[in-house]
Amino acid sequence: MTFLREIERPIIIAGPCGAETEEQVFATARQLKATGKVHVLRAGIWKPRTRPNAFEGVGAPGLKWLIDAGKETGLPVITEVANAHHVDMALKAGFTKLWVGARTTVNPFTVQEIAESVQGVKDLEILVKNPVNPDVNLWIGAIERFLKVGLTDVHAVHRGFSSFKSKKYRNEPMWEIPIALKTEFPTIKLLCDPSHICGRRDLLAEVSQKAMDLVYDGLMIESHITPDEAWSDAQQQITPAELKILLENLVLRSESSGDPTFKKNLEALRDEINGIDQELVNLLMKRMQIVQQIGVYKGQNNITILQPQRWEEIKTIHLALAREYGLSEKFIEKYIEAIHLESIRIQTKVMNA
Ligand code: PEP
Ligand code: MN
Repeated sequence: MTFLREIERPIIIAGPCGAETEEQVFATARQLKATGKVHVLRAGIWKPRTRPNAFEGVGAPGLKWLIDAGKETGLPVITEVANAHHVDMALKAGFTKLWVGARTTVNPFTVQEIAESVQGVKDLEILVKNPVNPDVNLWIGAIERFLKVGLTDVHAVHRGFSSFKSKKYRNEPMWEIPIALKTEFPTIKLLCDPSHICGRRDLLAEVSQKAMDLVYDGLMIESHITPDEAWSDAQQQITPAELKILLENLVLRSESSGDPTFKKNLEALRDEINGIDQELVNLLMKRMQIVQQIGVYKGQNNITILQPQRWEEIKTIHLALAREYGLSEKFIEKYIEAIHLESIRIQTKVMNA
């Protein structure tokens, strides 16, 4: 049995969204093995679907296809479980790796039920996908439930978050959430699932690269022998050959370097940054002192805190500055909005003191 913790970064888990037929599972397994880059074969047997009548997975018979394809190719296998009954069937079929899907992680009752059903099972690995809603505590909580029943090999998969905004991604990555998770659990393996984040093939490479640059430990990517004909998630799946190219093109940067010149130069640049950060905070303090004075003054003269015209003016000035200095307009807009919100908070406090 190969544990994820024993695999050298990047850990690659790949396979179809869903197991469809025995032939498809075997053909996929062989082609993925032939890439020489895949460590674990994935396939969904029970598919949680948004609408009824969509392909809901082949169910229990698919377990054996996956186990047998794994035996033939030598690839460890993993599938999704969404309740204790799934766990029971998967364990009986011989699975030693299971993942909990995004729609399950949202429900502490179900996670607890699954956790209790694996209590005492030896050499079992569980991968917990992030919940569909952007709540890091729910994700942390699900991982804790598995740790509490005594599992040691519990890892996380970042597959993005549902969002109402019109968007580039099927599921917004919100990178700050998995980074917060990794801070909470520094030793667990964090994998990125670019397939469910992107929802489309053309974005997979850039999201995978971004994950590598954020020091993720690996990727879970959907790969299908004939993606256009896939029974679920057709637009986001790629062939094993395309996957191989994607993986070959990934640039793997290391987190640290032993080169003393590099270290010295980096340290000098970081010192410079620290100095600038200090100046920035000092300037912010001065700005907020003036904001406070304005608050007092507005209060004495019975003037509202928010003056939409003034706020528009501030934004226009900043967007012009962003263009002039070649900074991202989106970034400067976010930055000034944060400052403005804090200014409003301070003035509200001063006026109502
Ligand atoms: C899947 O991996 O096929 C899947 C259903 O994922 P998620 O739970 O992330 O939607
Ligand atoms: Mn899928």
